[in-house]
Amino acid sequence: MGTSNNEKFLNQTIYGVLNNVGFGREVSDSFIKNHLLETPARMIKAWEEMLDGYNMNVDMKLSPHSNSYDWIGMTNIEFSSLCAHHWLPFSGTVDILYVPSTMICGASKLARIVDMYSHRLQLQEFLTAEIFNHINDELKPKKLGIRIISKHSCVGCRGVRARNSQFVTYGISTNSEKADFLGAIPHV
Ligand SMILES: [Zn+2]
Repeated sequence: MGTSNNEKFLNQTIYGVLNNVGFGREVSDSFIKNHLLETPARMIKAWEEMLDGYNMNVDMKLSPHSNSYDWIGMTNIEFSSLCAHHWLPFSGTVDILYVPSTMICGASKLARIVDMYSHRLQLQEFLTAEIFNHINDELKPKKLGIRIISKHSCVGCRGVRARNSQFVTYGISTNSEKADFLGAIPHV
């Protein structure tokens, strides 16, 4: 398998950055250099894997019901996504709860929706809205609440370097109380 143009371009970029930061002055740098040979190909493969949500589709498997339900859903759904600004990952958990109207959906489908949208280039605010809108449009629940709590490596490793900070976003339907939604999330 030959080296693609993307790999050549990335290789140039990597060495451009390394020259700027002073790489090559230490004896140990020559050891690291050997480990950079496959790095452009690895980076491309990793990005393709982290962005494989564009070809996903989720069938929510809706089924009608006539029961009276309180909040139902899935919490603590782990995800990892790539931030559009820095191409660095942000990871955390998503809580999704809804009060059904006439339909309920397969429980695993909520996690599949998270997987699909988080494996696209994202901002957390936009990810929250996409998950919220998808569920709201298809399921048309009486109430819907989404919470995403995550750590952004672009905030932890660079910039302000606030390593332990968490970024929180909510998507709450207009007819629900935030405290009501939060009260329904199990604290285990
Ligand atoms: Zn970022």
